[in-house]
Amino acid sequence: MNAAGTGMDGLFDVAVVGGGVVGCAMARRFALEGARTILLERSTDILAGPSKANSALLHTGFDATPGTLELACVRAGYAEYLEIRERLNLPLLETGAVLVAWTEEEAAKLDGILAQAHANGVTDVRRIGRDELIAREPHLATAAREAILVPGEHVIDPWSAPLGYLHQALENGAQALFSAPVERGEFDGSRWRLDTPRGSVSAALVINCAGLWGDHLDQSLLGGTDFTIRPRKGQFAVFDKAAAPYLRSILLPVPTERTKGVVLARTIFGNLLVGPTAEEQIDREHPSTDGPTLARLVEHAARLVPMLAGMPVTAAYAGLRPASEHKDYRIRAHAERRWITVGGIRSTGLTGALGIARHVWSLYEGLGSRHTAPAAPVWPRMPNIAEHLSRDFQQPGYGEIVCHCELVTRREIEAALTGPLPAGDLGGLKRRTRAMMGRCQGFYCSAHVCAIAKGRIAMPDKLGETL
Ligand SMILES: Cc1cc2nc3c(=O)[nH]c(=O)nc-3n(C[C@H](O)[C@H](O)[C@H](O)COP(=O)(O)OP(=O)(O)OC[C@H]3O[C@@H](n4cnc5c(N)ncnc54)[C@H](O)[C@@H]3O)c2cc1C
Repeated sequence: MNAAGTGMDGLFDVAVVGGGVVGCAMARRFALEGARTILLERSTDILAGPSKANSALLHTGFDATPGTLELACVRAGYAEYLEIRERLNLPLLETGAVLVAWTEEEAAKLDGILAQAHANGVTDVRRIGRDELIAREPHLATAAREAILVPGEHVIDPWSAPLGYLHQALENGAQALFSAPVERGEFDGSRWRLDTPRGSVSAALVINCAGLWGDHLDQSLLGGTDFTIRPRKGQFAVFDKAAAPYLRSILLPVPTERTKGVVLARTIFGNLLVGPTAEEQIDREHPSTDGPTLARLVEHAARLVPMLAGMPVTAAYAGLRPASEHKDYRIRAHAERRWITVGGIRSTGLTGALGIARHVWSLYEGLGSRHTAPAAPVWPRMPNIAEHLSRDFQQPGYGEIVCHCELVTRREIEAALTGPLPAGDLGGLKRRTRAMMGRCQGFYCSAHVCAIAKGRIAMPDKLGETL
């Protein structure tokens, strides 16, 4: 049985399992190289897992472990994002970062961090004294001693980037099937048959980008895995937009062995966030937030930037990092089984995705596969929802403002419900437009938004279930 009624007949060169940021970047790379590509996602839209709930930082790799595959992919992904972002209309908030020492012990670690940054090829990183730090960040608490300045760390839109990647893949011949969890599969020596509730798909090679479920997919279809996912939760509190003027740079702590630590950063949507925590948990499905932890995050933020004391918090969210027992990414080609595993992409996948996709493409070429890339690839432009750039409500003919907190127009909502990659559910519609994500969190506009979208997307049982 082929994927009935979906137009997914025939043999694909590659089936990408998982529509997180890594799967979307993978589908883009393979479509741009001319491979017949299909992406299979178990949810009703892309970004169902950790890819929808991160810090949205574009990392330079200054603090990555030298010599790792993660460092190579982050460096390559960072460079490619900057190279392609204008053509895809993906935003960039050029904040830079300051890694601040608050104690003498932390100050003693700065030289080591600087040396590592330079060894990692991030040569514009430098040490700055207290005067320069305070000139740059006048609202920091008086305990701030000195810092490392990382000019290249930036903030991006965590949702329009993967959306743009998959959009470009689809415009260049790839296909995507949603509500299609890969539950079983069989390899006959030359091709895979992948079974989903929407039918079966045949492909000459499978790329496992299943994130939090990557080890399970390897285990059930390949019969073994060399890593185990150990979800590591990160909670965030999002301050009201009134907080954003109190910080210009991304504020980084001196990292520990286990985590990069809690960050303060502006978001591309004009808010200021504090997080993430690093909490081990067994459950892979439910990244919940809790009051005491959020209160600690907010207190922490106000200790570092006292003007944040009493500032309203408009939202909270949590994501589960697909960490494993290994520190590095787990990317491996199983040549004899025509399968590539892309696992353990824990805390840098938003940045690393484009680099990971290039690395996997080179592994694929190493298996002897050849294709002809499209001579004139299509470059779709993503709608802008970043606060610092021109928005739809500033252009004539938008019709009506539907979400007044985020100034989302009816025209934006209609556009998000159509096109080659329409929103598949309410969460997807929110991520494409920002509707219901402002100060009132949908209190005033959710009924109107749902009325517009009714019958066109999957609706949750309760509105609070979507991010
Ligand atoms: C708290 C936190 C903060 C972070 N901050 C940053 C940051 O600032 N910068 C940065 O670069 N990175 C950051 N990251 C990391 C980044 O978000 C992750 O590395 C990335 O999201 C992992 O993406 P993925 O595509 O590998 O996995 P996922 O997002 O888990 O995607 C996997 C997809 O596969 C689907 N799937 C699973 N099983 C199946 C199946 N059997 N069939 C079909 N589909 C399936 C899932 O539904 C899911 O959509 C952060 C992560 C977290 C959690």
